Amino acid sequence: TVRVRFAPSPTGMFHVGGARSALQNWIYAKQQGGVFVLRIEDTDAARNRPEWTEGILSALDWIGITRGSYEGPHYQSANAGEHRAAAARLHADGRAYYCDCAREAVQARTGSQYQGYDGFCRDRGLEAGEGRALRFRTPDTGATVVVDLIRGEPTFENSTIEDFVIARGDGSPVFLLANVVDDMTMGITHVIRAEEHLPNTPKQQLLWEALGVKPPVWAHVPVVVNEKRQKLSKRRDKVALEAYRDEGYLAAAMRNYLMLLGWAPSGDREIVPWETIEEEFRLEEVNPSPAFFDEKKLRAFNGEYIRALTPDEFAAVCAPWLTGTGTIPAPPWRPDAFDTAAFLAVAPLAQTRIAVLSEIVPNVDFLFLDEPATDEAAWAKAMKDGAADLLDATTQAFTALADWSAEPLKATLEAVGAERGLKLGKAQAPVRVAVTGRTVGLPLFESLEVLGRERTLARLAAARA
Ligand code: GLU
Repeated sequence: TVRVRFAPSPTGMFHVGGARSALQNWIYAKQQGGVFVLRIEDTDAARNRPEWTEGILSALDWIGITRGSYEGPHYQSANAGEHRAAAARLHADGRAYYCDCAREAVQARTGSQYQGYDGFCRDRGLEAGEGRALRFRTPDTGATVVVDLIRGEPTFENSTIEDFVIARGDGSPVFLLANVVDDMTMGITHVIRAEEHLPNTPKQQLLWEALGVKPPVWAHVPVVVNEKRQKLSKRRDKVALEAYRDEGYLAAAMRNYLMLLGWAPSGDREIVPWETIEEEFRLEEVNPSPAFFDEKKLRAFNGEYIRALTPDEFAAVCAPWLTGTGTIPAPPWRPDAFDTAAFLAVAPLAQTRIAVLSEIVPNVDFLFLDEPATDEAAWAKAMKDGAADLLDATTQAFTALADWSAEPLKATLEAVGAERGLKLGKAQAPVRVAVTGRTVGLPLFESLEVLGRERTLARLAAARA
């Protein structure tokens, strides 16, 4: 049976490119009737932290790779004995040798630029010892052909592959070896991972062969880049899956978008049900060139997913932002000021307007705050000449209104504006800022209806105080 694995290192937030690879592994396993294995590569003691592991598990869970539905997590650190045994075996078989060369010494021998190890210790027969690295003896002739489902058969001349280190001077095996030994021990048949690892692949394939096991089939999925065609980096770009989650991206939108990095479903469609992706995705069809992570497009996608929710679903997904839970910050109003009925009354208006769920808060906060959250710039912009007069006249007219609902409120303000030669849009601006604190927001008259006569009039009065 097909066995694939996702093997993240818990050294930081969970990268969207990693999430993409995880999903591709997940779907491939499902399509092949195979097994998805999760392995946490936690051997870099200096950079690992347990909370990163937890972050990976929960982010995977969010995206649909749910706990309990896969094999693992296995932890690489638990396999340290196997890694050392493999290193010892390669040495005993004459496939690896100890080396005490400092980098400077190699450089002094080979000229100014370091161009890989020169093989100085190959036949010195050094014993193991403190400060002696173990190097794999790569073949001098022939070529290593990697079978890659996406890239064909990348071929590497063995003479260009240096004798690389497999265990450090303190005896600890390096990533290249540990990763291979784990894949071997876990019976992995297909390694689907990011393109960044392709330079490691010939070395790793040589290790598989030297350890006497048939290498896996490889698939190196494209590097993910930003709009400047630079590899997404955590210093420059928003790369953490958790950051998107906490901003209010829907998991369904996110995973749909991630699967479009280097692939597309049939027809002219991009937004498709997950089942369609699971059915139509073909690893072999993934485009090997760099995939552009287009945050604007993802935002637009998310907006469409939000609009496709039923009202009940929409209210449910907004809930964390209305109360604050876990990593989602608490909203700016007192918890007891929240009024479900008022929220539900404006929710449909918000649902068509927001692109990420966190935007629900600034759209509805005027309903639950004691005073609107007015910022100076908005105030200055709206309260120009004539605004005072307009607000006074509006207050009077609103006070006299018998039916406090959107239509008559609109007609009233329209009339007040017209008397002053103002179109409705212009007349609305100071009223909107006085009542909601903002220059943009939900349709004004529905908002006033839900806010109610008393609170609306109080805010208009406060604006004139
Ligand atoms: N721990 C490695 C990484 O996160 C895994 C590489 C691989 O998939 O083989 O990059």
